[in-house]
This record gives sequence, C-alpha cells and structure tokens, in this order.
Amino acid sequence: QSQELSQARIDYHVALQALQEHGTRMVCTGKMHTDRICRFDYLCYCSEAEEFVFFHSNSSVMLPNLGSRRFQPALLDLSSVEDHNTQYFNFLELPAAALKFMPKPVFVPDVTLILNRFNPDNLMHVFHDDLLPAFYTMRQYSDLDDEARLVFMEGWGEGPHFELYRLLSSKQPLLKEQLRNFGKLMCFTKSYVGLSKMTTWYQYGFVQPQGPKANILVSGNEIRQFARALMEKMNITGVEEAEKDGGSAEDEKDKDKKDEYIVVFSRSTTRLILNEAELIMALAQEFQKRVVTVSLEEQSFPSIVQVISGCSMLVSMHGAQLITSLFLPRGAVVVELFPFAVNPEQYTPYKTLASLPGIDLHYISWRNTEEENTVTHPDRPWEQGGISHLEKDEQERILASKDVPRHLCCRNPEWLFRIYQDTLVDIPSFLDALKEGMKTKPVSKKSKPASTVHPGRVREPQCQTSVQTTSEAKLTVSWQIPWNLKYLKVREVKYEVWIQEQGENTYMPYILPQQNYTFSENIKPFTTYLVWVRCIFNKNLLGPFADVLMCRT
Ligand code: UDP
Repeated sequence: QSQELSQARIDYHVALQALQEHGTRMVCTGKMHTDRICRFDYLCYCSEAEEFVFFHSNSSVMLPNLGSRRFQPALLDLSSVEDHNTQYFNFLELPAAALKFMPKPVFVPDVTLILNRFNPDNLMHVFHDDLLPAFYTMRQYSDLDDEARLVFMEGWGEGPHFELYRLLSSKQPLLKEQLRNFGKLMCFTKSYVGLSKMTTWYQYGFVQPQGPKANILVSGNEIRQFARALMEKMNITGVEEAEKDGGSAEDEKDKDKKDEYIVVFSRSTTRLILNEAELIMALAQEFQKRVVTVSLEEQSFPSIVQVISGCSMLVSMHGAQLITSLFLPRGAVVVELFPFAVNPEQYTPYKTLASLPGIDLHYISWRNTEEENTVTHPDRPWEQGGISHLEKDEQERILASKDVPRHLCCRNPEWLFRIYQDTLVDIPSFLDALKEGMKTKPVSKKSKPASTVHPGRVREPQCQTSVQTTSEAKLTVSWQIPWNLKYLKVREVKYEVWIQEQGENTYMPYILPQQNYTFSENIKPFTTYLVWVRCIFNKNLLGPFADVLMCRT
C-alpha cells in the first residue's frame, strides 16, 4: 500500500522529462568541503558504477562551481568525521542527453538524506558520529521530516544498532547494497548530501592524539532534546517527565532519595571488571542505594535507556557503552574506570560529554594503578590488544611500560594491549576517588538548569570628564541597563568597565554593581581614554561590549 502511494506521488513521465530538460541542480552551504552540505534536485546514482551522477543541461545549477577543485580533495565529507579520506563525496558528470542511451531511471520520491555512517558497530560512534548529526541535520532542513528517507553509503551491513537508526524517521533507511535492487540508475527527486558537524565534541586522533574538538558548538540542551526525542520514539518516559506529573518537589524529596539507584554498566566480553559483585556491594553500602547492572549483551537498548534515565549514578569501565550517559537525568554522576597504564586525561569522549555546558552531569574517573590487579591478554588477535605478533623487544618494552604514551588512532598496539586489559578494582582506592570527586561539586538531582540568557548591550553609555589640577582628572562613565534585563529575574547583575589610555596596549578592568562610576585614580588630564562597558549576569554570563567611548579629559 505505502509503496503504491509513494509511486502515485510522482508522475514518472513528468519526472523523466524534468530530469532530461533541467538536469541536476545543486546548491550547497559551506565554504570548505569539511563544512558543506548540499541539496540536490535529481541527483542520480548508478549502481553499476557505484557513483553518483550529475546531469548537465541548459538549466542545471552547480553551486559552488568549483571546477576541478571539486576533487581537491572532495566536494564534501559524507560522514561527520572531519576530513577523513575514506569518507569523501563526489559525483561523476554527464550531459543530460546521455540519458537516452542509459537504463531507464527509477525515481525516489522521498526527500532523502544521504550520508556515511562512520562505525555502525560501535555504540559511541553510532551516537556521536551518526545519530546526533543526522538528527540535527534533519532539524536544519525542514523538508527532512519524519517521512524522510535515509541512505547510508558507507557500504556496511545494517550492524547491531540498526534499530536506533530507524528511530530517525518513519521510513526504513536504505543501505548502499540495497540501491542496486532499484535498478541500474536511480534518481533522488530531492536529496541532501552530508552531515552537520555542529553536535560533535570529540576527534578520534587521526592527525593529532585524540581529544575534545577544538571548538565545541553543542551544549547539554541540544543533547537532552535529542535524548528526549529518541526516548519518545522508544516509548520511554523519562524521570523528568514523571516528576512534572507528580506532587511538589518538597514532598517527594524523601521518597526520591529512597528510590535513587546506581547503575553499573557491565561489559561481558572484553575489558572486564573482574570483581563486579564486590564493586556492587561496595557501592550499595557506601551510598545506601540499590545497585542495578545492565549490559548490551543481556538487555534491549530501550530497557537499558529506561534504567539509565532514572538513576543517580552510572559506573562503567571506559568504553562505548558510556555514551548512554546522554540519557542520564540532570545532576547524575558518571564514574568511568580505566585499566592499568591508561591515562584518563587522554581518552575523554565521555568526560567531554559529561562536561558540556548545561548538561549538568558530574564526572569522576578512576584508574587502576596496581599492576598486580590487571589481567593482560598478549595472545589475543591484535585488534583485541594482542602483542604476540610483535618483535620480542617491542613486546618487552610494552610490558615494562606503565603509561601508554600519546599516540594516533587507531592501531597502536600498546594502546590496544592496555585498553583491553581486565581489571580487579581496588575497592578502597575506588571509593576514595569517588568521595574525592564528589567533594568538588554538590550533586543534586533537583538542581535547576543554570540560566543561559545572556545580557544585551548596556544602553546609552556616556562619559564626562573634568580636570582637577595639572596632574589630576576625573572620568565619569554611566550607562543604562540592557534592554532584556527588565524582563528577567537575575540573581546578580554587574557591569564591567575597561579603560585604556589611547595608544597604550594594556587596559584596566573594573567590576561595578551600579550604573555609573567616577574614576579618579590613574586618570591624567588632557588625555584620551577608550572605555568599554558590558553587563554580566550571575558572575559568568557575559554580554557584548557597547560601542567604545572616546573620553578626553
Ligand atoms: N561491547 C559490549 N560488551 C563488551 C565489549 C564490547 O557490549 O564486553 C560493545 C561496545 O559497547 C561497543 C562495541 O561492542 O559498542 C565495540 O566494543 P570495543 O571494545 O571495540 O570498543 P570501545 O567500547 O572501546 O569503544
């Protein structure tokens, strides 16, 4: 039925004629291949050649028209991983007249988002590289709605997490291998190619050792909106929703405390916690809370999310499963364990996530420092950290090393050897790390989301000057409150004034509670001062500076 309906939506002959007459049209955003997303009318795909095809005609459009710079190195990144040379997108060109000699095209009526999944076998990559970027790319282009079709061109099979990709739209996503079922030539009536990188926070170490991205543009709010949308699709009601329906926060406090529980996310095949039962007992005793374990091997993903979305603490060995901390409620604690010789400061995808502005999670790491508590696996295959294929010298060097030196992705044998160790967690040292970590910030489940409304510019900034003596002068600066302040309840409003003597390269900053001030210290007569004023809410929400004032004493 739905197949028939979608076919009925487009008239084949009209579509074919449009393609022949108008050819392909492309308009893109972005100055560089790394920040480009393109929208196409009538982009085609030839499954025989495994190439996209752009048909030129009198009215085709190609913007940007890069000429052969289109291949230096590519038109755009097809995955959200920046400038990865296995993830480039480009198309072949043909004159529309060539259609006469080609197989009859099959038209795809759905608005389509074409992308590469980066590593669909790994849950962290699924969320960070694919689901979040696709979700927000779809929010960017309103015709990529619930009816949109996703096409995954990386060439992999469905993978273990395909159900998650299916949550992005009501239509079944298509894999590259399935495209040939549609015939030799298929043409996407309307399509977008590429993914927004706006939501990614981590780089995996292809050109420099892994770490947080240099310029993170996502905040906890967008992560949470995404998590909420996904949970809705999975038919899970989060605690935050449940709280809204329940009684007043005060009445519920005691009950909530009793209901609080800790989740231990366990891995059952590699990077094991060898004394998990002991760890669970210690957590239960220390915090007087229930402790629940989950694992990807034993539960459905939605049931894991259900559990995690209501817990007050998530404890897990470093690994992809920790991406589920994006489903934690505000105020929850994330505790990440690291095997021997692995420095928590150098592998921070989950720490960075838990530290995004406004995400309101509390991150703590623990590292095994006792070599006798680690179990190594030198004889496993290299990709699971085996080292027996290496030269004897190299094996000995790795075995003697107590800290994995910084390295690039992805096949560093010392890194793989250490990260795939199993760990007997030393309970006293673990609890110490936890207690120490909890000191730094009070953790409250009820903590209010920090306000993120920034001040506007101060209005009508003015200065007045007077000369007192040949060596003394006064400078009075005044201004009006920012326009948006009169609609806001702000705990603390302060103003910052910068004063710079013209021609000097340093300035004096002042923080003031009131809307005017007379400066007399260090103010010289017959001198020009440049003065900037801005408003600050609650100590750290900075507003913009008003236009600079030129004040001559
Ligand atoms: N995985 C798992 N249980 C295990 C080991 C791995 O569920 O005992 C999952 C893990 O969450 C990830 C995938 O298998 O989605 C690949 O795991 P790997 O150890 O290769 O990657 P990492 O967790 O270090 O990112």
